[in-house]
Amino acid sequence: MPLTPLSLETEVQYLKSVGPARAQTLASRSIHTVGDLLYYTPFRYEDRTRLGRVRDLVPGQAITVLVKVISCGPVRTRSGLYIYDLAAVDVSAGAPGGLIRCRWFNAAYLEKNRVFRSGQRVLVYGKVERDRYGNGNLVMVQPKFELLSASGESAKDSLEVGRVAPIYEAIGNLTPAVLRRLVWNALAASDGDIPESLPSSILKKNKFPARAQALRQVHFPDAGQPIEVLERFQASAQVRLIFEEFFNVAVALALKRRRMKWLPGIELRISDEVRQAVKRILPFHPTGAQKRVLKEIVADMTSPHPMSRLLQGDVGSGKTIVALQAAVVAIENGYQAAVMAPTEILATQHYLYCKRVLEPLGYNIGLLSGGRKAREKEKLKEGLASGTVHLALGTHALIEPDVEFARLALVIVDEQHRFGVLQRYKLTRKASAPHLLVMTATPIPRTYALALYGDLDFSVIDEMPPNRSPVTTRIFAERDRKQAFEFVRGKVRGGEQAYVVYPLVEESVKLDLRPAVRMFEQISRDVFPEFRVGLLHGRLPRDEKESVMQRFKAGEIQVLVSTTVIEVGVDVPNATVMLVEHAERFGLAQLHQLRGRIGRGPGKSFCLLVAGDSRSEVADERLRTLVEAQDGFRIAEIDLKLRGPGEFLGTHQWGLPAFRIANLLRDQEILEWAKREADEFVERPASQEELAAFTRALRSGWKHRYGLAQVG
Ligand code: ADP
Ligand code: MG
Repeated sequence: MPLTPLSLETEVQYLKSVGPARAQTLASRSIHTVGDLLYYTPFRYEDRTRLGRVRDLVPGQAITVLVKVISCGPVRTRSGLYIYDLAAVDVSAGAPGGLIRCRWFNAAYLEKNRVFRSGQRVLVYGKVERDRYGNGNLVMVQPKFELLSASGESAKDSLEVGRVAPIYEAIGNLTPAVLRRLVWNALAASDGDIPESLPSSILKKNKFPARAQALRQVHFPDAGQPIEVLERFQASAQVRLIFEEFFNVAVALALKRRRMKWLPGIELRISDEVRQAVKRILPFHPTGAQKRVLKEIVADMTSPHPMSRLLQGDVGSGKTIVALQAAVVAIENGYQAAVMAPTEILATQHYLYCKRVLEPLGYNIGLLSGGRKAREKEKLKEGLASGTVHLALGTHALIEPDVEFARLALVIVDEQHRFGVLQRYKLTRKASAPHLLVMTATPIPRTYALALYGDLDFSVIDEMPPNRSPVTTRIFAERDRKQAFEFVRGKVRGGEQAYVVYPLVEESVKLDLRPAVRMFEQISRDVFPEFRVGLLHGRLPRDEKESVMQRFKAGEIQVLVSTTVIEVGVDVPNATVMLVEHAERFGLAQLHQLRGRIGRGPGKSFCLLVAGDSRSEVADERLRTLVEAQDGFRIAEIDLKLRGPGEFLGTHQWGLPAFRIANLLRDQEILEWAKREADEFVERPASQEELAAFTRALRSGWKHRYGLAQVG
């Protein structure tokens, strides 16, 4: 074990009272180093500078009191309820002596683990009530508690009492109190050895506290720090750390943007022939919005610098054809284009679509994805490297190192929100400075757009193709499922097609597909024996996926039972009905994406949500929102409200960097501020040396810190 002060890079297991077992627990939250631990910040604080006194308590008050256990154990109430009961006396310095009871329901573990003993000092925090069973005594029901060490810490040097105490989210068996002790040790061990991380010009200009001081204060605030300010995350230490997280990402994106803007790009030309070809592929009249965004894209592609553009548009707004028009511009100029999609099914579908609309122009089109046969892959790679293949569609397989392009001029990334920030650039390294177009159907509030896409120019398709009638959405109880199926039967008899979606939310390796398969068997055998029913899920062999998709497109399969793999991109206009099983289990955004699969043709479309009766209030609200709203932006906003930022952003859906203290919803103003500072820092640095040094540091810490692809 090193004797010198620990640096932030020291592995956390060398910290006092950690060791291998706890290190492993900490690693489950990506805490590997002392620095990681210091950035594990409290989510809340408790003012224990003034503890409550039992004698002064009034019912209804929420407060912390310091007590000593007199007796404890399980009891049975008169109504036969089993509860854990604890009697204790106030031992705070002020006015000891008052008696209080605490009760926990369903807390057999308290008994089993012998959590309390008489004489034990405990901090209990909760709401005080008058005891309904006792004779007017005070009681706390289900209070939070913290055991104090037996040594009888004096209030002064205690980490628990007599201060504003940091409350951490527990990690496994590491309680807030244990974490408090570990962080305290980390601060003590690295004392004086926490190097500054923000550029000094930024630090001075914004009058931020130094990093060492900020880290100390964020865990153990000075006594004078008002708790309300801490609770709003507006104390200067908190603000500095939040700013820092945003600043790092914003600088990375600004560097990226600057690099793209300076690089000499592939300056494409628009001749009459190119214009003709772009028009010729159109299967329909483009909407005004489609024409406008194509102009924006073409302006970028004909400029001397590479394009980096985000094309945003609600699901079904018609982004694909615009992207393909851009591809035609590249190919007609003698170059290649590549389209990367997040799932094999979407890549396959793009491939089939491209074959249909682009092959008539004489282009060679190839599909590259994990599931292809080795020989096919080799042949395609050769074609890409020699330039005989003009357009490549594919999944992540496209960014593998052995894939080379002869003359790649345009990279298109579809459903960008499924990829990480900066990951979108990987494919652009296959050529020197190709144009980049990323597309997303996920409507995002402005703040998130800044954090995610600060390096991109924006184009928005804000108009739906004509002849779309809104999808009618209905909720069915499970016992009425039969009716829902009958409705589907009617539609399919009339020549239309249907999706039946089963909720396997994440398609992972561990996933149990049996329920979906069973459901498929049931539907094809018992429910719709007269129809041709197909099954699609992420783990089918690639050939089979392709053939199922193709048969559904061709109308051979009438009812497609599917997992959520169809959530992104699948496009079969004759499919006008979607029945979603266990709809209460899906998120709102996801249901919106799923529903986007129908309502794609002129026929009226119907979405039937079959939901369990025991669904929660929030689940119910989600379903009702879908019945009422069609617009993706509105739905995203309601989603955000219903779920709260934690959950909304917690899913890796967004490809957001994992912020440790910053919160995109709460800290919008700090984000905008950090973005302004970052842009200025990169565009007009106070000194080039400072910028260079900061960029170096950012690069070296980036991967560890954000788990993202590299910067600049
Ligand atoms: P998304 O933006 O979700 O990727 P798509 O590009 O898949 O949407 O388009 C959705 C459907 O709308 C497709 O069937 C497409 O052929 C059709 N479509 C797109 N633009 C138009 C248009 N201008 N007129 C008619 N249909 C269109
Ligand atoms: Mg799409």
